[in-house]
Amino acid sequence: AVPVITIDGPTASGKGTVAVLVAKKLGFHYLDSGVLYRLVAMKLVQAGEDGANEAAAVRAAESLDPQFGPEGQVLLEGVDVSADIRADGIGLQASRLAVHPAVRQALNVIQHRARRAPGLVADGRDMGTVVFPDAPLKVFLTASVQARAERRYKQLLEKGFSVKLEKILHDLQERDHRDAGRAIAPLKPAADAFWLDSAGLTIGETVEKVLAAWQQ
Ligand code: C5P
Repeated sequence: AVPVITIDGPTASGKGTVAVLVAKKLGFHYLDSGVLYRLVAMKLVQAGEDGANEAAAVRAAESLDPQFGPEGQVLLEGVDVSADIRADGIGLQASRLAVHPAVRQALNVIQHRARRAPGLVADGRDMGTVVFPDAPLKVFLTASVQARAERRYKQLLEKGFSVKLEKILHDLQERDHRDAGRAIAPLKPAADAFWLDSAGLTIGETVEKVLAAWQQ
């Protein structure tokens, strides 16, 4: 089977950045599964619906046809939505519609298609537990909610946004709660997961630890 490295973890744990760098280093493909949930949220918002509308969410997921540009840009019906899908409101809607089993099933089909030679690095919440349970390396990347909120806060300040740390902390807690508490595919480490706490590590150090685990 084509090898897969799964990297699961909570919001703002740094898993996306780490996954991209590990994929680059190994020459593997990269799947950001959260993007698919965000795209469904985007479609709903554009249609004036919200994530709580199960029927609309399922329809949007089943008809999703994501396209990716050469530099990883995310396209929806030909339009570059890479920046728009990163909005916190879209992330929150994504976590609401992610509780519907039929939505997850439709998106899992798209995720399985990403498993192509020579290999795949997949990041999300259930990559190691549900989507690629046979992956030879399953990383669970964590950090305390405080550490993640502070990291997100600094990033947003550097981008010139005026934000409140309390608000970020509150949003992260709400998202963590929903992602870990849902009945289907909750965020949790696989039984054979390799635990990594990113709080005291730089991105480079975290990447090195994943690569070392892969080479073992
Ligand atoms: O990782 P990201 O923040 O982009 O994901 C957005 C939301 O999509 C998450 O809060 C989570 O609810 C959902 N998601 C999921 N399963 C995945 C990836 C994301 O349920 N594999």
